[in-house]
Amino acid sequence: QIIPPFKNEPYIDPSDPEVRSQMMLAFERIRSHERNYDLFIGGRYLSTESKIVSKNPADPDEVVGTVSKATREIVDKAIDAAYFAFKSWSRMPASERVVPFLKAAQIMRDRRYELDATMILEVGKSWIEADADLAEAIDFLEYYSREALRYGQSQPVVQIPGEYNELRYIPLGVGVVIPPWNFPSAIMAGMTTAAAVSGNCVLLKPASDAPVIAAKFVDILREAGLPDGVVNYVPGSGSEIGDYLVEHPLTRFVSFTGSKEVGLRINELAAKHQKGQKWIKRVILEMGGKDCVVVDETADTDAASTGAVASAFGFQGQKCSAGSRIIVVREVYDEMVKLVKQKTEALTIGDTTDPNIYMGPVINESAVSKILRYIELGKKESKLITGGNRLKRRGYFIEPTVFADASPTAAIAQEEIFGPVTAIIEARDFDHAIAIANGTEYGLTGAFYSKRRDRIEKAKTEIHVGNLYFNRKCTGALVGVQPFGGFNLSGTDSKAGGRDYLLLFLQGKSISEKI
Ligand code: NAP
Repeated sequence: QIIPPFKNEPYIDPSDPEVRSQMMLAFERIRSHERNYDLFIGGRYLSTESKIVSKNPADPDEVVGTVSKATREIVDKAIDAAYFAFKSWSRMPASERVVPFLKAAQIMRDRRYELDATMILEVGKSWIEADADLAEAIDFLEYYSREALRYGQSQPVVQIPGEYNELRYIPLGVGVVIPPWNFPSAIMAGMTTAAAVSGNCVLLKPASDAPVIAAKFVDILREAGLPDGVVNYVPGSGSEIGDYLVEHPLTRFVSFTGSKEVGLRINELAAKHQKGQKWIKRVILEMGGKDCVVVDETADTDAASTGAVASAFGFQGQKCSAGSRIIVVREVYDEMVKLVKQKTEALTIGDTTDPNIYMGPVINESAVSKILRYIELGKKESKLITGGNRLKRRGYFIEPTVFADASPTAAIAQEEIFGPVTAIIEARDFDHAIAIANGTEYGLTGAFYSKRRDRIEKAKTEIHVGNLYFNRKCTGALVGVQPFGGFNLSGTDSKAGGRDYLLLFLQGKSISEKI
């Protein structure tokens, strides 16, 4: 089979009447039958007593699905099933391994409205955010399949007389995939696919706030013909089974995306050698951000303020790439403050089953408390110019909130809030702005708005982030186009959606034969 070159999946248009009626139908279908989702281990569904109840953050009385929870004994069974599958899966040619993933991508396209609607109900994405998440998931399946074919080919090595030399990339073994809830389709499917299409077998522990969309993905892989035991679905709370999965002596690698706190804990636990463990575990950690939008005095302030507001409040600011700091050079500071306030106040907020709503709820009650705590801190540290309140309605809604005159070292300018809160910081000049941009422990994304070529060139070297953008927002990296991953405490810079990513799930075997 000839596979066409990769291209990014297009998005739906929420203003199209056909799209609207299909989406409404999808909401109705999902809501008309509440579902239970089982564990999936070695090709068999398994129900347990203890459940995760996945709720709609716009209305926590609405249950999106109940999901069986894995115990430690079940984790052991899943590891056994994965090792059993690994024997044949790891030896299958890449050209055969990619087939179920390419089929799954097509099933996801066919079930697009249902999957988009599931994310809208399960995590409160807007239509556009949900569809971008799904399109990215499809992109990951398509892109990594092509990458698996590339790594499956013979690799270039220098030949010397009297020997035949070869370098093969082979999979690592059985690993654990731990995604976050905020890109419940894209990151979950991307991490799982990268590991599995490279020939590894996987235990997928979804985030407890988004287990339903992950259950649907695992079911799609089964329908697409993925052999039993290659991807095993083991939901459960991170605090109950997380450490067990990470520390297990048979875990060969851990691929994690989530908070700095959990990531660092995984790094530490995985580094400790366990009795009977035959390897040094590989860890791939993508963590938080305190990302910036920098604006100098030559910038188009209209475009910069639009970009800053989109970076700060897309999906309620719950993106690792969210522009939670807007750093503005003095000459255009007042103007930017005015424009950001105006544009923030024009955002619509509410239940995102309505396609006209831009901002939905935050994920859960503990996120509300954390965000409100930061807002109270922000009021003491700097000047609240808009927002600052929880909406007086059911659900976890917080107004888009902007602070101005924030000090670069204030807690709201240093710590990841992961909600709809951004801080505007004044810089004396361009060099000062860059120093502020680099002045956190993170280094994930950044945007710089300027018309000066010399400054753009300098910023390319000086702004120390994994994903740097000019004259556009700092969110929305595309698979294959902007490989994604951060510096410093933002993670291991794995560059998801890039040509190096699959190497993280492979090891090179050098083979030499005398002829
Ligand atoms: P989180 O609380 O760290 O959780 C992430 C995952 O880790 C979840 O599946 C969670 O399970 C699991 N977990 C929790 N404790 C664990 C433990 N002791 N051992 C193993 N796993 C454990 O993060 P989140 O709230 O889901 O996601 C938000 C964070 O992710 C933000 O910091 C954001 O910046 C970051 N993020 C980074 C990127 C990136 O590419 N750099 C992308 C997206 C998000 P439970 O849900 O069951 O607790």
